[in-house]
Amino acid sequence: MQHMPTAKNEQLNTNLFNDFLCLLQGKIRRQVLVNTQPEKVKECHQLRHGECRQCAACCKLIFRCPFLSSDNRCSIHESPVRPRSCQVFPIARQDLEDVRRSSGNICGFWFASDKN
Ligand code: SF4
Repeated sequence: MQHMPTAKNEQLNTNLFNDFLCLLQGKIRRQVLVNTQPEKVKECHQLRHGECRQCAACCKLIFRCPFLSSDNRCSIHESPVRPRSCQVFPIARQDLEDVRRSSGNICGFWFASDKN
């Protein structure tokens, strides 16, 4: 028997798709920034406060990083091959929102101003 899509299911699918698009946009934004505007990244970090709580939520945005070990630790954290976009996360307030949107986690960092 074929199930008809309900309005509730369609809304759920729309929300999931919108979340996916936002997270994808965030990944692309961070890649572009670290590769084309390293000075901008430094400026953004001057507004950043707090510290990493090692929750690994940023290692699971859209997909689980293959270098994340079973105990939620980055297996290449000290390696030079660790992506620059991981090293500088979070760059801006939108990144905190991506963490919340993806996992409901609260990143240990926060930003002092709305400038970025
Ligand atoms: S989401 Fe924030 S607190 Fe959690 S691991 Fe990433 S940088 Fe650290």
